[in-house]
Amino acid sequence: MSLSISQTNTMVSLFRQELELCKVKPGETVAVLSEAEQAVEYASAFMIAARELGVDVFNVNLPARGADGAQNVAGDVGQNALAGNGPAIEALKSADLVVDLIFLLFSKEQLEIQAADTRILLVVEPFEVLSRLFPTQDLRERVEAAEARLAKAQNLRFTNPAGTDVQYELGQFPILTEYGFTDTPGRWDHWPGGFLATQGSETGVNGTVVMDRGDILFPFNKYVQEPITFTIRDGMIVDIDGGFDAMLVKNYMDGFHDPRAFAISHIGWGLNDLARWDYLATGAPTVGMDGRAFYGNVLFSTGPNTELGGSNDTACHMDLPMKGCTLYLDDELIVQDGDVIPTEMRAVTR
Ligand code: FE
Repeated sequence: MSLSISQTNTMVSLFRQELELCKVKPGETVAVLSEAEQAVEYASAFMIAARELGVDVFNVNLPARGADGAQNVAGDVGQNALAGNGPAIEALKSADLVVDLIFLLFSKEQLEIQAADTRILLVVEPFEVLSRLFPTQDLRERVEAAEARLAKAQNLRFTNPAGTDVQYELGQFPILTEYGFTDTPGRWDHWPGGFLATQGSETGVNGTVVMDRGDILFPFNKYVQEPITFTIRDGMIVDIDGGFDAMLVKNYMDGFHDPRAFAISHIGWGLNDLARWDYLATGAPTVGMDGRAFYGNVLFSTGPNTELGGSNDTACHMDLPMKGCTLYLDDELIVQDGDVIPTEMRAVTR
């Protein structure tokens, strides 16, 4: 199905504003990375928008992965159509900004492109989500204020009324910010965003996480129906207890036949006051940035740590946003029952 002229114009206009937030300017080169026949409208609209801004632009279009052409956006991470394609990687490294429409996240190809000072913008959400959660400088400032506080912290602890009490030793890994655009050489971001994350030291996460009813399971794209209890020792999940949802999570992780699937991954909190917790319930297509960036959530996760410089590249990654939690950095209250406390991180709408 192709877009009408007015739909195309709306898309080009929004993509142009996004490239302007990324400070794309004449003399720069934008590369649009796409796969087979997917996201054709996005690729085309980004190229028109880039040309309107007077920059050089090209499209790296790769054949579909796998014999059946199947792809699994946000499911099996770290595997992508770019792997082993040296000439395509070199072309992308030559650009100032890569618009990633294929989900390079957690791949070594992405890290190689970033190391060439190329900034990368991931765009995989449907247009409705992109426009509703269009990023702002205010969001960036609040996320960066949170980053400055997190960078000083040595310990992160979060709790919830369902029984969570877990501690992360910090300091071994850097901080990842996501505010939805990138104007900094070598920096990756995801449109839309609005949160930050770091990683506990590899053996320094201990305690219990109890996901409550209504918390979110990605990539299942579903809400928890009965509590799931994760027991964590030295950075690894040693037990998963509960009912049907706990069984599903455990089976999913077991299915990778990789003990590193049970490692604890990134930890952080959401700051996007436009994000909707209920959006998944509408059944509209999404990769789930509403839940991940939701204002005052805690985003707990399991699996790989390569995005923050670690060596665990397991393909099993779960993002597990939790609502109504309380989070402390070195005993300073940052999130209280799902509300953001420090003034410099708070949204004006709250
Ligand atoms: Fe994640």
